[in-house]
Amino acid sequence: MKDPVCKMDVEGNSKLRSSYKGKTYLFCSVSCKQSFDKKPENYVKS
Ligand SMILES: [Zn+2]
Repeated sequence: MKDPVCKMDVEGNSKLRSSYKGKTYLFCSVSCKQSFDKKPENYVKS
């Protein structure tokens, strides 16, 4: 899986995850997750 914020590869068992529009996204760090949670539309290309 890829971290949508920084584009790093992330382990599939990461506990840092958020759901957005029915999809789950994983993050490498809390700061990436917080950035995503603030403005998920910035990171998800529909
Ligand atoms: Zn990241």
